[in-house]
Amino acid sequence: MALEEYKRKRDFKQTPEPPPKLGKGKQQRFVVQKHRATRLHYDFRLEMEGVLKSWAVPKGPDLDPANKRLAMQVEDHPLEYGEFEGTIPKGQYGGGTVMLWDRGRWIPDGDQHAGYKKGHLNFTLEGEKLKGSWHLVRMRPRRGDKHENWLLIKGEDAEARKSGDP
Ligand code: MN
Repeated sequence: MALEEYKRKRDFKQTPEPPPKLGKGKQQRFVVQKHRATRLHYDFRLEMEGVLKSWAVPKGPDLDPANKRLAMQVEDHPLEYGEFEGTIPKGQYGGGTVMLWDRGRWIPDGDQHAGYKKGHLNFTLEGEKLKGSWHLVRMRPRRGDKHENWLLIKGEDAEARKSGDP
């Protein structure tokens, strides 16, 4: 995917978002941005192959392994996007406010490239809010799907919380 779709969707004379530049390095960063666009959602991003692989999670991550969260894959974003906070002007793609909600390091369990291709990533998050083991699992495509739908699921570990826990 690289960043063509990212570039095509945006007018960089209008939006303060970072330009489509491929990155280098393997810092294995992850970021979650709270995005108040037409609909509130959380953008979950993992650094991979010089870009941020990105998923829009309407309900946001959930610490209860029983609550599998829909994560719609969206276009790759440049690494600099991981620092972005601000307001995308009304009328522009994703118009609304973007706020950093969590960030840190992600540690893939096994080969991330094979896992991504297969549609099953197991990893550990070292964020401020999100920690411990997580899974991203691609669902079987259904006719008419505009995006690849994945599920973001908390792994069973000491960081997991049952709904209703304090
Ligand atoms: Mn978004």
